Amino acid sequence: MKKETVFDLIGVGFGPSNLSLAVRLAEESATSNMKHCFIERQREFGWHRDMLLDDCRMQISFLKDLVTQRDPTSRFTFINYLFERGRLNEFVNLKNFYPTRVEFHDYLSWVAQTFDERVHYGQSVTAIEPVLAANGDVSALRVVSQDEDGREWRRVTNALSIGVGGTARVPEPFASLGPHNVIHSSAYLSSIERIAGDQRSGKKRIAVIGAGQSAAEVFSDIARRFPHVDATLVIRASALKPADDTPFVNEIFSPEFTDVMYAQSEDGRRSLMERFRDTNYAVVDRPLIEQIYEMLYLQKVSDEARHRLLANTVIENTARRANGEIELTMRDVLSGHAHAERFDALVLATGYRRDTHVALLDGLAPHLGDALAQRNVGRDYRLVTPSNFKARIYLQGCCEDSHGLSDTLLSVLAVRSDEIAASLADAGQENAAAQRTADDKKTGVSGGRVAIAL
Ligand SMILES: Cc1cc2nc3c(=O)[nH]c(=O)nc-3n(C[C@H](O)[C@H](O)[C@H](O)COP(=O)(O)OP(=O)(O)OC[C@H]3O[C@@H](n4cnc5c(N)ncnc54)[C@H](O)[C@@H]3O)c2cc1C
Repeated sequence: MKKETVFDLIGVGFGPSNLSLAVRLAEESATSNMKHCFIERQREFGWHRDMLLDDCRMQISFLKDLVTQRDPTSRFTFINYLFERGRLNEFVNLKNFYPTRVEFHDYLSWVAQTFDERVHYGQSVTAIEPVLAANGDVSALRVVSQDEDGREWRRVTNALSIGVGGTARVPEPFASLGPHNVIHSSAYLSSIERIAGDQRSGKKRIAVIGAGQSAAEVFSDIARRFPHVDATLVIRASALKPADDTPFVNEIFSPEFTDVMYAQSEDGRRSLMERFRDTNYAVVDRPLIEQIYEMLYLQKVSDEARHRLLANTVIENTARRANGEIELTMRDVLSGHAHAERFDALVLATGYRRDTHVALLDGLAPHLGDALAQRNVGRDYRLVTPSNFKARIYLQGCCEDSHGLSDTLLSVLAVRSDEIAASLADAGQENAAAQRTADDKKTGVSGGRVAIAL
């Protein structure tokens, strides 16, 4: 029987988090010959493709690319990407630290293609199972994935890096409507033409729900690109609020701040999260707010009010009418007045859930004790497991509660991948030491060295 390959690391998902880890593993000699691979659901590399709107910019400096904070001399910097694409001087002339998302996507894809041989694209990881040693320890993990033809794949690994990003959050009054003409912003570009139709399909009314950056981008895009659509942006807050990206506040996104956050008590962490929420949640970049305000103002000038911002508005109920229209019952929180309106379609810019890893790890539940429920994650992003659970599980993008707001963003990727790689290298050394002790016991020899690939 063919011996099963045991990987040192398998990465689930190949977005920027695991891509940054791939770069780090390749660049350091301590980890470069680690046996590792990544499994990615998409057919090819893609970073929020459905929100790659033409003129949308990064909300982070290009200097916070996949590597610069760790090693500005790496060949995978954004600056080297520009150089190799022949655009470095023109980019300098732009005098702008915030490239478009389209360009950053191209940068990420440029890095990703270097690792094509390590990534199994077009496979979804469906389960993680324990591999038990004779003494009952969980010595490794079996990663089960399914490709687009329904074929199942099984791979065994000593360590897992879960970087699966978020899952579209669809709050209850909308979930019960079903998917017809109701889309989440994460599917915007591939679905908007279907739900908006074109001029020939007549006037359409679309409501965009949410008060964050994605909601504002979608609202602005619909208003600009679909002249036959009247768009309504519905927000609970009293106004679209600007994201605070002033320099002192921005320090919370520095790698050093992860230590500050991690060192706090539960209450301290909660309080920090609350104090700085308006850097990332339910806030919009100031230029976009100004652009939307001007668009609504110009409608008043021309006395042609098509698009609206409904602020202070809570959606209390939703219903699907016989003709397919969607009725929203909305209450103005200031006046207390409720009214119902019908729309042809909804775009939900209602954010993301960050608990995808819990379902993936469900098969390990009997062995994990309350590790997942307690959300007990080490500073090195490793899930703290019972002592007989030897396999390592690293979590990226779902540790906001313990590691801070930058955890779901690109802010600390370069440094986080360094910390995870260092932890993996330590584990490799521990394993090697344990193996030496075991061999010494068998042979009665001490002090010999056993070469073990990390
Ligand atoms: C529209 C948009 C714009 C953003 N802009 C910025 C920005 O400007 N600056 C910033 O700092 N952050 C931004 N973010 C935040 C975003 O979370 C990070 O940019 C980044 O995507 C995080 O990378 P990730 O690898 O952790 O997650 P993701 O990018 O979400 O990647 C996760 C990957 O895992 C794959 N996957 C999921 N489940 C499975 C499975 N079961 N099996 C196999 N593969 C799986 C997915 O297909 C995906 O490719 C933005 C987010 C959105 C939605």
